[in-house]
Amino acid sequence: MPAIVDADKCEGCEDCVPVCPTEAISMVDGKAVVNEDECADCNACVDVCPSQAISMK
Ligand code: SF4
Ligand code: SF4
Repeated sequence: MPAIVDADKCEGCEDCVPVCPTEAISMVDGKAVVNEDECADCNACVDVCPSQAISMK
C-alpha cells in the first residue's frame, strides 16, 4: 500500500521530500509524486504533510 499524493491538495511545500527514507518522493511541476516501487510504506510523509495531501493507497 504505497503512499499517494492528492495533487489537488498538495501545496508544493516539499516538506515530504527529505523525510522519505527511500527517496521515493520527487517534485513534478510543483507537486509531490511518490514512486510506488520505492515506497517502503513508512507513513513518514503522511505525518509531515501540512495539507493532508498524502494518504496510503
Ligand atoms: S508535504 Fe504535502 S503539501 Fe508539501 S509537497 Fe509534500 S504532499 Fe505537497
Ligand atoms: S510512506 Fe515513507 S517510504 Fe513511502 S513515500 Fe512516504 S516517506 Fe517515503
